[in-house]
Amino acid sequence: MQVLKFGGSSVANPENIKRAVEIIKHKSQNEPTIVVVSALGGITNQLLEAGRTAAKGDELYKEIIHAITTRHLELVKSLLPLTDQSSTLSFVMQRCHEIEDICNGVYLLREFSSKTEDRLIAYGELLSSWILSAHLSATGNHNVWKDARELIRTDVHFTKAVVDYNATNHRLQEFFFPASSNLYVLPGFIASDPNGNTTTLGRGGSDYTAAILGAAIEASVVEIWTDVSGMMTADPRLVSNAKDIPTLSYQEAMELSHFGAKVIYPPTIQPVMTKKIPVVIKNTFAPDDPGTLIQAHSKVNGTPIRGISSIKNIALLSLEGSGMVGIPGFSKRLFEALANQEINVVLITQASSEHSI
Ligand code: ASP
Ligand code: MG
Repeated sequence: MQVLKFGGSSVANPENIKRAVEIIKHKSQNEPTIVVVSALGGITNQLLEAGRTAAKGDELYKEIIHAITTRHLELVKSLLPLTDQSSTLSFVMQRCHEIEDICNGVYLLREFSSKTEDRLIAYGELLSSWILSAHLSATGNHNVWKDARELIRTDVHFTKAVVDYNATNHRLQEFFFPASSNLYVLPGFIASDPNGNTTTLGRGGSDYTAAILGAAIEASVVEIWTDVSGMMTADPRLVSNAKDIPTLSYQEAMELSHFGAKVIYPPTIQPVMTKKIPVVIKNTFAPDDPGTLIQAHSKVNGTPIRGISSIKNIALLSLEGSGMVGIPGFSKRLFEALANQEINVVLITQASSEHSI
């Protein structure tokens, strides 16, 4: 079994979805396939904006929802033959009414909790995956759509929930073995807590969904289909002669994805790494490009440097003073204070004199 994940730009409009479907068709000929989909490009942000606008008491949220509804309805109309449209159109309408109901509640209460946020933004992936599944069926590719919330179990840390791998792996194995279909379509990004509330895996989390699935069923490969031909030696927007990287080790990919290169969501590597499942980053718009293969060992290519990455919007905090020298517990207090505020630390250095952190 293999897992193919398509990002927001790969499903942004009918032309792109048709490209994705060609890839899915081709790939699923020889091997049972699980397809994981992101929301249509831009939709998660629009859903968030609708919620935030409603929370401010601004009725403009209705226009945002109208735009979201129209975009999905148009997509269905351009992807499905007339005779197959009605049930999918009504699915889309129902989901969009739910979006409106939630936002009406947010508007009345002027309250947009992280729990409500997850309920709301989950619709992006629910809609995109459903439409893709319907389009696949209409083009003769029998497939089973499954709500990922029934399979992926997390804690209650809304907007960036932590996966309960024991419960999740058990459910995934039970669902996918023995396989009842050759082709499955699942929404990425979304999961549920022990009480059945919708949670999400963090922005960009559909990659992570693909990796969680791939690890649980010991997939032959997890392919991340995006809009670039793999990871590069530097950010091509900043460095004009950046080059594609053909292979990377899990550790190298993790380092590069943490800093700047938004090609893959960093937590994605962890579940596949322990099972040594290869991850391939591929370009939906240039499927013949080799992409980047991420596996246990990278190939030595004569240079010890894999790439140069950068990160924006980051604060440098330094704690210093002679009173710290030789006194245990300073680092603990500093990092505990940061952790209590849910501030993530990406790099730590300490002078050997212990005079500054
Ligand atoms: N739709 C979600 C986001 O924009 C998840 C994803 O696309 O991976 O963050
Ligand atoms: Mg993404």
